[in-house]
Formats: sequence, structure tokens, C-alpha cells
Amino acid sequence: MATITGPIDVSALRARLDRASAAAEQAGVDALLISPGSDLRYLIGAGGDSFERLTCLALPVGGTPTLVVPKLEQPGYAGIPTDELGVQVVTWVDGEDPYALVKAAIKGTRTAVADMMPALHTIKLGQAIGGAQTLAGPIIRELRMRKDASEIAALRKAGQAIDRVHARMGEFLRVGRTEKDVAKDIAAAIVEEGHTFADFVIVGSGPNGASPHHRDSERVIEAGDVVVIDIGGPVAEGYNSDSTRNYVMGEPKHDDVRDTYAVLQAAQQAAVEAVKPGVTCEEIDAVARGIIADAGFGEYFVHRTGHGIGLDVHEEPYIVSGNSLPLEAGMSFSVEPGIYLPGRWGARIEDIVVATENGVESFNNRPHELVVL
Ligand code: ZN
Ligand code: ZN
Ligand code: ZN
Repeated sequence: MATITGPIDVSALRARLDRASAAAEQAGVDALLISPGSDLRYLIGAGGDSFERLTCLALPVGGTPTLVVPKLEQPGYAGIPTDELGVQVVTWVDGEDPYALVKAAIKGTRTAVADMMPALHTIKLGQAIGGAQTLAGPIIRELRMRKDASEIAALRKAGQAIDRVHARMGEFLRVGRTEKDVAKDIAAAIVEEGHTFADFVIVGSGPNGASPHHRDSERVIEAGDVVVIDIGGPVAEGYNSDSTRNYVMGEPKHDDVRDTYAVLQAAQQAAVEAVKPGVTCEEIDAVARGIIADAGFGEYFVHRTGHGIGLDVHEEPYIVSGNSLPLEAGMSFSVEPGIYLPGRWGARIEDIVVATENGVESFNNRPHELVVL
């Protein structure tokens, strides 16, 4: 079932449909074929998932956008102002061929399909339409990575909501509790503080903090542990939070914690301060990596510095070596260097920021220091 939770700004969505169609033309394709997922949500405001029955927005260059949807799924799209958006709705019932309906809605055969469209549908669309298929991701991401004012407002709201959860960490994170119990309480707080749901909760205590994508475990939190808390989820508008802070249970049990953490904090701060239009994604990565490497911890910073964020938690632009894309105002992404000392402890500091006309705004503003609980 499609879900419409956020406010719908018809003129903003119309402009996105027009820009998507123009971008498709520029890319040399005849139509974009978009299945349910964040691209569809971006274009017409409808959330939801793909199922074995085809739902597909066909966006032909120079033609009428057409939403092909199973009759039984149609009520889920009732809240979408399709008339105002100029989107024609075509329903189908079991026994009919939805792929032929998509073919009828477009002109030409060169199509770009949503990156996350199930292969089941991609292949059948390819057989029905017959022309070359490419990915729509590179076309849509040119739009999605430049956030407009309403998207920035939603990301700011998400950032403030997750900051309120970090502010309450002392309620949940205590010596003697398991990571799992702490994670459960944090997940509830993520919802209490204004998210639709908790998308992810990482509680990495002691040696588990040295594994960047650790989730939680039955490990009991001990005095002296450094604990990495990386949490986030979407707000009603569909835009996500994602913020990491680090806590220590009293005095750290390892004597290298304070000095090493200071290096990480300096690296994260310098990388955030380097953000402004014109600076490239890889230059931001190099700022953080350079400081960590100069202090001798280069081999312990085992991932890119950040990822774009919006309707997806991970999207373009990636803040990574090799990405020479220059930042523009409206690009929003994480700055999250980490230092991971295998078998001992680890830490990561993560803010979501947006490049502005003159520099940078951070959506996460909790203290970056190691917080003693
Ligand atoms: Zn990640
Ligand atoms: Zn994170
Ligand atoms: Zn992140």
C-alpha cells in the first residue's frame, strides 16, 4: 500500500516532474520508468514498496506522465493530487498485462528504469518495450542531490529530533545493561522525539565500537567502555536523520582514549568547516583523512568520510576519494570520520550538514566531545 505522510506541495512536485523529464531527454532516453521507492516519492509524493504486481510511473519525454497501478493498490494513491500534477492514472486487474500498459504510455523504446526496481518487473518491461534499458538513478540523482528549501527544512527537523534523543542518552545507557536493552530504549525514544520509526540503532560498546556497522548484542556494558551510538530514522516528510556520538562510562579503561579521540574530533570539525560550494567531495574526505593519517591512525579509518542523505539514508553525493564532484548549495551529506582499534575500542563522530551559499549549516548540534556518563 502506498503511504502519503508528508505535506504535498503540488507546484514543487510539478517542477520535479518537469525537471526529471528534461534530464531524461538530455540523457538521451525516451522515458523514465519509476517503481515505488524514494524516487517515486520524490517525484509524486507517494511512499510505499514494490510488489509482484507492477506499479510504475512512466515519465515519457514530452508526454503525459502515467501511473500504472493495480486496481487493488489504487486507494493507497488516492491522496496524490494526480490531476493537479498532470499525472494520468491507469489501473489494471489480475489477468491484464501491465507491461503493455506501460509500453502504451510512452513513445520510443529507450527507457531508464529505477535503480531499485525488482528484476521481475525490469525484465518484463524490457521484453514488452524491446529497446535499450539503462538506470534512472544517474538521471534522478542530479535532481535529488540538490535539496530545495522544503527538503532542507525536513532534514533540519530530523536533525533536531535525533539531537533530542542523544540529549537523553543518560536515561538509557548505563553500566550493567546489555547493548540490546539500550538499543530498544533508544528506538522508542527515536519515535517519541518525532520520527516515524527508528531506521537503525547502533550501540557499539567497548571492542564492538571498533566494528563500524555493528548493530547491538547481548554484551553487557562495563565501566570504562567507550560506546558508539549511531542512530536515525525518517520524519513524516520522509527525510532522514543520522547522527553518531560517543559516550564513556566513567573514566575510560584504555589510556589512549583521550588523545586519540581528540584527533578524531579535530578531523571531524575540520572537515565540516571545509564544506562550502566549489570544494569537491574528495577534498572533504581528504581533510578528515589527512588529520587522522598525520596522527598515525590512517589505517584505522576504514570507510569514506560521508554519504548524501535525504529520502534515503545513503544517497549521492558520496564524500569519498575519487569523487571530484564540486559541492553546491543544497547538497546535504554526513561528515563521519571514525577511528577503529580492533579488539579494543572505536569512535565515530557524525553530523549531517548542508552546503549553503556561503559555507555550511550543521543539522546536528550536540556536543562532539566524548560524553562522560
Ligand atoms: Zn553506514
Ligand atoms: Zn550514522
Ligand atoms: Zn551516516
